[in-house]
Amino acid sequence: MDYRIVQKVLSQKRDIVITAHKSPDGDALGSSLALYHIFKDTHNVKVIVPNDYPDYLKWLPGNENVLIYEGNEAICDSYIQDSDLLFCLDFNKLYRTHTMVDILTDFSGFKIMIDHHEEPDDFCDQVLSNTFISSTAELIFSFLRNLDYKLTKDVAVCLYTGILTDTGSFKYPNVTIETHKIVAELMSFDIEHHIIHKKIYDSQSISRLELLKICLGNLVFFNDLHSAVTFLMEKDLTSCNYKKGDTEGFVNLPLAINGIHFSTFFIQFKDGIKVSFRSQGSFDVNLFSKLYFNGGGHKNAAGGFIDDRNMKETIIYFKKVLKTYLAS
Ligand code: 5GP
Ligand code: MN
Repeated sequence: MDYRIVQKVLSQKRDIVITAHKSPDGDALGSSLALYHIFKDTHNVKVIVPNDYPDYLKWLPGNENVLIYEGNEAICDSYIQDSDLLFCLDFNKLYRTHTMVDILTDFSGFKIMIDHHEEPDDFCDQVLSNTFISSTAELIFSFLRNLDYKLTKDVAVCLYTGILTDTGSFKYPNVTIETHKIVAELMSFDIEHHIIHKKIYDSQSISRLELLKICLGNLVFFNDLHSAVTFLMEKDLTSCNYKKGDTEGFVNLPLAINGIHFSTFFIQFKDGIKVSFRSQGSFDVNLFSKLYFNGGGHKNAAGGFIDDRNMKETIIYFKKVLKTYLAS
């Protein structure tokens, strides 16, 4: 990123749109709202995310300003068309914005990407991309520091939430000394981190636990492949009164078992099966997902999608391609 160019772009009052990936998570929303708070007094700024997100993120400061594209396409399209500066946060391939892809492809203003996923596409004018950094929120922190912006408590709460959620509460290997130094600075804003943890992790619904029961019932181990797989069917989602976010983290549970290095979770929606992969150590789920599941992400956490097989066929296919992949 050439900060002189970015500084020049931001030196005039801009009509800014900040956007993030489909099914935005704590990092996507925390990063977007942090920038919203930074720019709201000097620019016109809108945060537009592709679709709805879990209730446990809806307390973030500034949440009431987030526009959801799905269902509000016309007004969101007009905001995007009328803006001259676009921030693409926590994604690096336009298809990750789902139904926003067309309007964003047509966007002719200045585009800035801030992201930490592997293999960024070349669609932005300025790019801050580093796959070794824990979270987009951590990159936003350096972006703001490089441009001499002053943080506020709201910004600190948003960035803390992004770092917290993308590091699995500071436990993943991507956490560095620098991550903790940043968090220390965020904590100097009196952010009440214990309340943030409670709002994110200890505000669960009954539906989540009902779904977890089914998920654990479906869990199978392929011990010879050091792998575990589980799934939920669309009918389970209906019977348990599924809400967005209810299954967050399910995919991580089998990794707590000795000898399991690779965990997979399939969840069936109307339009197809969403898959989540998590691994420990050298198993590259980004590559695995790219090769066989139309997706990608990071080396140890990736997602994908299948729309041409049912659940049974998907699991058979999964076992087959995993064996092929390990053999190669
Ligand atoms: P999750 O399993 O939580 O949906 O995704 C795990 C990680 O992979 C997240 O960082 C997410 O952004 C990324 N990811 C999920 N789905 C896709 C996808 O279809 N393509 C790419 N490139 N990344 C994905
Ligand atoms: Mn992220």
